[in-house]
Amino acid sequence: MELIDGNKIAADIIAELKTQVAALPGRPPCLALVRVGEDPASVSYVKKKEAASATIGITSRLIYPPVTITQDELFALIDGLNADPGVDGILVQSPLPKHINEVAVFRRIAAHKDVDGFHTMNLGKLAQEDDTGFVACTPAGIMELLQRSGVTLAGQHVVVLGRSLIVGKPAALLAVQRKTWANATVTICHSQTANLPALTRQADILIAAIGKAEFVTADMVKPGAVVIDVGVNRVADPSKKSGYRLTGDVHFPTVSPLCRKITPVPGGVGPMTVAMLMQNTVKARRQNG
Ligand code: NAP
Repeated sequence: MELIDGNKIAADIIAELKTQVAALPGRPPCLALVRVGEDPASVSYVKKKEAASATIGITSRLIYPPVTITQDELFALIDGLNADPGVDGILVQSPLPKHINEVAVFRRIAAHKDVDGFHTMNLGKLAQEDDTGFVACTPAGIMELLQRSGVTLAGQHVVVLGRSLIVGKPAALLAVQRKTWANATVTICHSQTANLPALTRQADILIAAIGKAEFVTADMVKPGAVVIDVGVNRVADPSKKSGYRLTGDVHFPTVSPLCRKITPVPGGVGPMTVAMLMQNTVKARRQNG
């Protein structure tokens, strides 16, 4: 079994982007990071994005409206960023408060600044295999992890567990693309899938993105499979100072000995999501500039 080191691969990408940014003509790329309220996970995610931006030489514009902001006020804020020629990319950190329609917010961001890749236009471009669009960061990071770990997708059976717009569906759309690095045969599973273990056992590459701690057990995995664990779940653990530990959607102790390769949680897909956001921001600067 080989561990896929997301921290190392993400650090390589960040170093590559730093070199690219230094060589860009004109002003550095600028990323607007909008965080509504003080959700602790969002605070931590935005901090990581800000730190990566600083390392690469991307200017970040930090906007922290209160949790009481109305949808119309948030739209007005986004409209201002859309119209600002000094801003290349806009990220509105999710989850948003319940009174705000998240999909409407994703659509409000100008498609050419949508570095999160959730706008209808960018999801459409992904389906059309139009590389001028922005691909959602987590699925893009998964593909990058696989490529840089020497995992061939072509002709392989990729089983994606989860059909969300931010992970499962775009991951499946990427793996099935008519590209030399893709060309996989793809099955998408979800909560209504019948006989799930029989399908996951067919996977040469299993991508687990369901948000259920340690759901994937050894009996669900084919020996020799590559397993990408996207899940980030908090499990109570009194032995930790924080009172919890982070775990993936895969039961790592029993599944990992079976695998050809597997990502850990943390230190697998998570750092790649940030690296891909940075890559999208540099792309936006090039395309918008
Ligand atoms: P989500 O929107 O809640 O979607 C979960 C998907 O899993 C849904 O399609 C759901 O099916 C399916 N599902 C739930 N229970 C299932 C079951 N028992 N059997 C089969 N399928 C089941 O979650 P998400 O946003 O895609 O995130 C998934 C996980 O990835 C979470 O742990 C999240 O924290 C993590 N994540 C990590 C990163 C990162 O950077 N590392 C980024 C994004 C997300 P239905 O559609 O039928 O409900």
